[in-house]
Amino acid sequence: MTHMPENKNDYRRKRINRMKRMIVSTVFVLLLFPNILCIAAFIRISGLDRQIRELTARLDGIAMAVSIEAQDPYGGSYAGNDSGALETSGEVVIVEQNEMLSAQQGVAADDYDEVRKVCLTFDDGPSANTDEILDILARYNVKATFFVNGKPGYEAQYQRIVDEGHTLAMHSYSHKYQELYSDMDAFREDFFEIQSYLMDVTGTKCRYYRFPGGSSNTVCNVNMKDCIDFLSEQDIVYFDWNVSSGDATRNYVSTTQVVNNVMIPVENNNWNTYVVLFHDAPGKETTVEALPIIIERLQAMDGIVIVPITDSVHTVQHILPDEENIMEE
Ligand SMILES: [Zn+2]
Repeated sequence: MTHMPENKNDYRRKRINRMKRMIVSTVFVLLLFPNILCIAAFIRISGLDRQIRELTARLDGIAMAVSIEAQDPYGGSYAGNDSGALETSGEVVIVEQNEMLSAQQGVAADDYDEVRKVCLTFDDGPSANTDEILDILARYNVKATFFVNGKPGYEAQYQRIVDEGHTLAMHSYSHKYQELYSDMDAFREDFFEIQSYLMDVTGTKCRYYRFPGGSSNTVCNVNMKDCIDFLSEQDIVYFDWNVSSGDATRNYVSTTQVVNNVMIPVENNNWNTYVVLFHDAPGKETTVEALPIIIERLQAMDGIVIVPITDSVHTVQHILPDEENIMEE
């Protein structure tokens, strides 16, 4: 080691210490900087996400208004699809006559009817989820509508639906598109099968029907108008939906998504009647989880009541009875 004078050694030590401090602070800043950027980006993304949701809701409203203005029976917003292998990717929603008037004239729906009604409807049941859905509805003292299929083994659940004051309604016996919609005879046969089955099990003559895939489905081999006329001859009223929970659009739809799919249209559109489509089907656990949240939020809204489908609820139909069927084209 070379000999150095005392003060020169001191100077060198100080210089090294200074460099050490500089390196440490540089590394510290370099480490901190990406973290700050990440936090800033996260905050920005959350804000944008909220904006997108709000804009989507507004777009839905605009699309609905535009379609109503154009008097196009097949225009309107997409409200998701019913479940099933042959289902189309989405169905066009037509609002009922009363809502058309409201939207055209810019008059609040409340002017036509004092309270706005929300009908919670469950398709494809009964299932392993039915009891839990019924328990939730009972806890909140809410009545709903179940568009069921023929499923021997679920007699107790059909009976519970009736006993607890919900509307038991039909959604075909088989729910198999290729059989059900193969010709009018098959459709009629399936209809009588589900109606008499539910009569045998519960003693109830069901009066409401929902077409698998909705009345605007595009997989039907028969003329939808003939099916509608047939139901009408049987004194059956069919219901589609104008709000879809989207719970059957994919295998897994998160609870938050189900809640948003329902609440955004309800909170952003002043309609007289909201018919909300859910699925009471195996694997739809997020529907069950979303249900209490949706009910609580609806119950907290002013001028909204949750009601089962009855004759006093305005029909919500994708194809109006006097419209020509799109299948004919
Ligand atoms: Zn269905």
